[in-house]
Amino acid sequence: MNGPVPVEVLKQHLIDPEICIRCNTCEETCPIDAITHDENNYVVRADTCNGCMACISPCPTGAIDNWRDVLRAEAYAVDDQLTWDELPVQDDALAGQGTIGEASAGAAGGASGASGASADSSEPVIGGSDLVRGSVVPPWSAAKPYVNLYNHKAPVQATVVGNYRVTDASTESDIHHIVLDFGKQPFPVLEGQSIGIIPPGTTADGRAHHARQYSIASPRDGERPGYNNLALTVKRVTKDHQGQAVGGVCSNYLCDLKKGDVVNVMGPFGSTFLMPNHADSHLLMICTGTGAAPMRAMTEYRRRRRMKGATGKLMLFFGARTQGELPYFGPLLNLPKDFIDTNLAFSRTPGSPKRYVQDAMRERAADVAALLRHEHTYIYVCGLKGMEDGVLQVLQTIAGEAGLDWQTLWQRMKTEGRLHLETY
Ligand code: NAP
Repeated sequence: MNGPVPVEVLKQHLIDPEICIRCNTCEETCPIDAITHDENNYVVRADTCNGCMACISPCPTGAIDNWRDVLRAEAYAVDDQLTWDELPVQDDALAGQGTIGEASAGAAGGASGASGASADSSEPVIGGSDLVRGSVVPPWSAAKPYVNLYNHKAPVQATVVGNYRVTDASTESDIHHIVLDFGKQPFPVLEGQSIGIIPPGTTADGRAHHARQYSIASPRDGERPGYNNLALTVKRVTKDHQGQAVGGVCSNYLCDLKKGDVVNVMGPFGSTFLMPNHADSHLLMICTGTGAAPMRAMTEYRRRRRMKGATGKLMLFFGARTQGELPYFGPLLNLPKDFIDTNLAFSRTPGSPKRYVQDAMRERAADVAALLRHEHTYIYVCGLKGMEDGVLQVLQTIAGEAGLDWQTLWQRMKTEGRLHLETY
């Protein structure tokens, strides 16, 4: 007897190209390499994605959380997705029938292998079976953030009210502090959130530039207290990772802005890399270069709150090539010693050995360990991707030397929203 041939409907995981800010978080997070990208889009391989959801929470915009019910045999190919400017509409006839795809045996095996790193490896060991290294939840006492109020189709316009260099003029590193004012338009933000800037013009093939993401460097109540403005810390990109000359489209646009210029802004983004609101919480902040932006925002918010009784400790490890290349060097050193414990690490000071934030942390191991012991300590790491392994490794070493079980502590800090990593 011939019955109808069963139709397999796949709930296909897709990324919305209209909202995605190309921050690479999803590709880094995906444990089975199901996500890839070109200069245009970030996309998901239907034959690899197993719907593990590891990428969903870390995505700052929510662009990652899109699904279409499609005939499995007709799943959208990567090559198609790379050309999209918007997601395809859902075929009503298939809506609601899809099941999430399973990865091939090979891909699934690869994922379990990755989680089983050996304990004596020099790499920090990933806690438990969870492949995400940092928290995907905010601190319990964080304020509720607003996200995605504006997108690239309906951005908000901000006016430049300040733009000045915060690195020594003699250095190659041209880092700017840029203040954007939103006037009467609502743009509520929290420390640790980011925004998207849409640079004007088009790419060589005539497409509008996609937005670039920048961390907010000012506290929630404004760069200037009580004003509807915020600050960014932007490094002018003149070379690619291989050292070849290249003009960063958005960073050069931003660094060249004049007072009164108007900028198209998306966002805000981010709902986990947020600071605790309870007054006795401690912040352990570790950053390199422009990764200082969220640390500046949190530090300044605490400085303003301190006057209203916040008591928690602030400990900062901040790395740059030289003193002259460290953004906000002067203002940072002016902060009172009893307010913030600042530790700088310079890697290219002529005549001195290379020193990274990890080295500075090791030197302060006893004080870092005291913070690790405290259940109200929140850790924030922001900056170069390369520092993440080194920082986790030194935390593991410091915890171990202090008699703390790092695997247990790491897992606990992650689930309690107390270990936040934002590196790229
Ligand atoms: P940079 O000047 O290239 O580097 C800053 C310092 O980090 C230098 O002293 C560098 O040393 C050191 N460093 C290099 N590798 C390291 C490692 N494995 N461990 C520890 N330190 C290391 O930094 P930048 O150009 O300002 O870039 C900062 C990075 O932060 C960028 O990748 C940017 O995209 C990122 N960022 C992220 C966010 C965010 O996630 N929200 C926000 C802002 C910026 P040497 O080069 O001398 O070895």
